[in-house]
Amino acid sequence: MKHLAIIPGDGIGKEVIDVGMEVLDAVCEISSFDYDGELFDIGSERYLTTGELLTEEDISGLRKKDAIYFGAIGDPRVKPGVLEQGILLKMRAVFDQYINLRPVTSWFPFVPLKREVPFDIRFLRENTEDFYMGAGGTFSGSRKNASVKIKRELYELDMELRTNSSNGDDFAFEIGLLSKKGITRFADYAFSYAEARGDKKVTLVDKANVCTHIYGMQRTIFEEMSREYGIGLEYMFVDAMAMAMIVRPETFGTVAVPNLFGDILTDLGAQLQGGLGMGGSGNISPEGVSMFEPIHGSAPDIAGQKKANPIAAILAAQMLLENQGYPEEGKMLRDSVRHCLDNGLTTPDLGGKLTTEDVGKAVCRYILGQKK
Ligand code: ATP
Repeated sequence: MKHLAIIPGDGIGKEVIDVGMEVLDAVCEISSFDYDGELFDIGSERYLTTGELLTEEDISGLRKKDAIYFGAIGDPRVKPGVLEQGILLKMRAVFDQYINLRPVTSWFPFVPLKREVPFDIRFLRENTEDFYMGAGGTFSGSRKNASVKIKRELYELDMELRTNSSNGDDFAFEIGLLSKKGITRFADYAFSYAEARGDKKVTLVDKANVCTHIYGMQRTIFEEMSREYGIGLEYMFVDAMAMAMIVRPETFGTVAVPNLFGDILTDLGAQLQGGLGMGGSGNISPEGVSMFEPIHGSAPDIAGQKKANPIAAILAAQMLLENQGYPEEGKMLRDSVRHCLDNGLTTPDLGGKLTTEDVGKAVCRYILGQKK
């Protein structure tokens, strides 16, 4: 029995997670997978009423679970960044979810590429270091130093920067930092993931010709790990990777990418596979509690209209099943999505006429039909 935390969140998050849970219930009926789901009321409504984002009580409740199934958060009444930082980023930090897994799959006919070649790229984006640590500041002309404090699971850093510039100019800076421990655990996860998938290589995306310090160190550690695992390593500069994803996406399998470049490439990937309604994502803590969610947000423009495409949430459930040791059940969810696309059982964003619930029912029917 798996113990899941369910956080529907806001807007269409609630609608697609309802469908996702029905789909998980159908999986329970025909397989050895079983779960109990505890609902957590975390999101904008609670924040607007009580001012609470992610409380200590939430954290201790979530810590007891095997995994978190998450919808979306976002609300036009709340200042941008408040919910994201106070809930999502905090959850990533508290549970040290240092891998962001984003599959990019050729869900034809919704792929905007001319060539109909199947692809299945697995982006592993490092989620805690690089240029997204908030390690920055400004020097004004009169002030000659700035200090930066960084607190992470792996280390605590306190840096003081000085300038003897006397021209009175102003500066702003943002530090991209990688640690040996951070790279090592990322590389280890990437190669073990590639090994489990049977991939012959890991592609490491960077810009080691310009950011030589951080990405040079990253390359050295990935090379060591490649030798240890006996799995090949290929380098791609991020600019070349952006082009290659369009012209030859089928040549990539497991792709490891640092935080900032990963943010950009996975959004390119989201459009390659057919849009926001088609992508699941995992924030993975290999030693702790992982969280699975659709890549889209709360979509206030269509909330409550039964139009939300639940496929991204279903694919997030598929990733949760795989992560929790149920690969066959996960594959069944992928097959059920393929079945819906092949038969035009889709919501309006994919040109169909079905409601969110109807797509869920079609998926459940497919799954229940797989009973042996
Ligand atoms: P948030 O602030 O929560 O990120 P947003 O509207 O800025 O919300 P998304 O929720 O990602 O960002 O939505 C972007 C656009 O994509 C919206 O027009 C939305 O209607 C559409 N969209 C997103 N997810 C879906 C979905 N599952 N089904 C159909 N359309 C979707």
